Amino acid sequence: MNLVDAHCHLANLAEIIPLAPILDEAEQSGITRFASSALRKSEVAYHLTNPDGRIVFSAGIHPNFAECDLDLPFLKVLCQNKSIWAIGEIGLDKGNPELAVQRKVFSEQLNLAMEYRLPVVLHIVGHTSEAYQTLKQYPLVYLVHGYAGSEEGFRELTKLDSFFTISSRILKEDKQELLLAMLRSGRYLFETDITQYYVQENESNPLLRLWELISRCAELSKINQEDLIQRQGINARKLLPQ
Ligand SMILES: [Zn+2]
Repeated sequence: MNLVDAHCHLANLAEIIPLAPILDEAEQSGITRFASSALRKSEVAYHLTNPDGRIVFSAGIHPNFAECDLDLPFLKVLCQNKSIWAIGEIGLDKGNPELAVQRKVFSEQLNLAMEYRLPVVLHIVGHTSEAYQTLKQYPLVYLVHGYAGSEEGFRELTKLDSFFTISSRILKEDKQELLLAMLRSGRYLFETDITQYYVQENESNPLLRLWELISRCAELSKINQEDLIQRQGINARKLLPQ
């Protein structure tokens, strides 16, 4: 049984924990692939200088992460060199008041994804309808990461050629309908979204959290864990480079 962590920030994590031992341990437990999101030039540099067959990485200008120092020409070079599997995470975030700038940067990056025919990893917090209206104009494949908005917004996003990464954010009581809707859609993968900022004290390997997430999803949905794993595997094969 092979599990994929379909959204994590491994280069960011590597600044505080050596990655090789925790990747090896995760692999032994059955987590064999990782889609890492790089949001700073130093994170991109880490992935380029530490290639690992288990990791693919994307890069994008995040709508609400002050430390993100990526820009369009930089992303373009990564596209040209075929270094990234997707553009992202990109999107709209209500936590950033500069909506006009977000809109412009979002569209520019969608155009880049079109030019290089790359999938797009989305970060959408608020503004879901607006994001949907923009996204539907592009015939792209989307991986909506960590979505925890309204069910209505979720239904809109399912009209796209979209997959969703389920995070622990929607294990909460008030998000259970959304979790069940995502599972019913069949278009799901699972994510830790791990960064150095989320590691807990005394936590030796935060990558193993993915197992807790899946077992909670199985418990809440009454779907067999094996079936969840099988389905995410099918989706990973459709979405990620082989
Ligand atoms: Zn993320």
